Amino acid sequence: MGEQRKRGVACDNMNHRRAQAPVRHCPACGGVVNEHVVTRQCSDAQHAAARRQQTVYCVDCGTQLMS
Ligand SMILES: [Zn+2]
Ligand SMILES: [Zn+2]
Repeated sequence: MGEQRKRGVACDNMNHRRAQAPVRHCPACGGVVNEHVVTRQCSDAQHAAARRQQTVYCVDCGTQLMS
């Protein structure tokens, strides 16, 4: 009965609840959480580092890192 989640967002990541998320994409669902953050070009090394932190989606470019 709670209204904790925003409508249309089926993701619990805290970035969705922040008014000024520091990243463009949500690491859990890949959705855009702050469209004002400029999309960055990522290197394979950055994606490999993100993968080691159990990040499913890159927060900079939204690429899926793990399936
Ligand atoms: Zn999300
Ligand atoms: Zn990336």
